[in-house]
Amino acid sequence: MTPRKAAAAGSIPAQDLLAVSTSTPESGVSDPAKALRIIREDLGDCTRCKLHRQGRKQIVFGVGNPRAVLMFVGEGPGADEDEQGEPFVGRAGQLLNNMIKAMGLKREELYIANIVKCRPPGNRTPERDECETCSPFLLRQMAAIQPKAIVALGAVAAKTLLAINSSMADLRGRWYDFRGTKLAVTYHPAYLLRDPRQKGEAWKDLQMVMEYLGLKKE
Ligand code: URA
Repeated sequence: MTPRKAAAAGSIPAQDLLAVSTSTPESGVSDPAKALRIIREDLGDCTRCKLHRQGRKQIVFGVGNPRAVLMFVGEGPGADEDEQGEPFVGRAGQLLNNMIKAMGLKREELYIANIVKCRPPGNRTPERDECETCSPFLLRQMAAIQPKAIVALGAVAAKTLLAINSSMADLRGRWYDFRGTKLAVTYHPAYLLRDPRQKGEAWKDLQMVMEYLGLKKE
């Protein structure tokens, strides 16, 4: 299989995508909105991993500003997201919206996506093969948008993107270089709903991001 076909089939591990990123159908397209449309078209009615036959209603591609300076990446759609076709619209999404507001930003200014685009059954954690199959599309979305910073929400997003198997406590609170883009890790809003005591730590992470983006700290 050629690298391009393998990438289109989603069978290249995330960390190897760079090697084929110049041969994706959107390469050379300078308008990020257009590039995102091409990526969405390429994804099609995806059947590349088993999630397509495990009860997903629709693919949740990602939402927001194609020219966003900041991108949030979560784990995968839940029931509400699967229903509405948009990431982070349920309870965790409401908390994410509050976090975004507290940063002095609007949800529609940013881009929000997930590691996997289909709902894992019963909201289970996406499995490694599912993350590896789906994340090349996310990486292509990132390449199209070219945000100034990326925030990985929770362990699945952080570990998939960074290929580091550490605890959240170790992963958060610092910057990573992710293919030339600054990447920060913070707690997933769903975790913060379960353990609100960690909100202060998450806020520290977001303040680090705000400082880098030149946003005013309260
Ligand atoms: N949790 C996620 O990780 N992503 C969503 O879109 C919703 C909840």
